[in-house]
Amino acid sequence: MIYQNSFQNWIFDLDNTMYDINLGLFKKISNRITDFIMSKYSLDIDQAKKIQKEYYLKYGLTLRGLIVEKKLEPEEFLDYVHDVEHPELKKNDQLISKIRILEGKKIIFTNATSKHAKKILKILELEDDFDQIIDIKDLEYIPKPDKRSYKKLLECLNLNKENLDKTIFFEDTVKNLIPAKELGITTVWMKNSINEKDFIKNFNFIDYSFNNLNEFLDTIKMRG
Ligand SMILES: [Mg+2]
Repeated sequence: MIYQNSFQNWIFDLDNTMYDINLGLFKKISNRITDFIMSKYSLDIDQAKKIQKEYYLKYGLTLRGLIVEKKLEPEEFLDYVHDVEHPELKKNDQLISKIRILEGKKIIFTNATSKHAKKILKILELEDDFDQIIDIKDLEYIPKPDKRSYKKLLECLNLNKENLDKTIFFEDTVKNLIPAKELGITTVWMKNSINEKDFIKNFNFIDYSFNNLNEFLDTIKMRG
């Protein structure tokens, strides 16, 4: 059983957690990443996709690989890849009212930019409901699941041993839950079949799993 008053800090990943992974929003961004690599380094689509995947697996984020291995300036990349519209994304009234009921601090912890996060949250009509967005710039371009990014998160939020057990983190990517779980944070996986391999490998690090945030928010009890 999960009780609302067991937690003071509600940390949410953004992409594929705040909205349904099956909408394919992230696929569009992924295609933009491929395009960027193709044009920046004069590569064909297969070469670009290979680098994209290799860096994602090695560094947790393709951008991190480009910074480390190709000395890329991140701004140019971020502006390009997030320059997409999301007409398929709609607000969800149920989600809005349930998120508003949550007491405590609500935080977005994303490997994307705060500009992208704000764009998505605005469409979802949740832009005023989060206390803080910790984005890839705040993380100094070292993404989840690198342990250093969680250290930064704790610094930004003033979290320590006393309040980590009052903290809960939601993610669609199980490997990003691992460092959180090791720190004593309660972990919630947004179930999806796209990250199946990641789930099979890392399921031990999940405390709870739900099909979506609405399902989770229906389950919590207001008072413990
Ligand atoms: Mg995600």
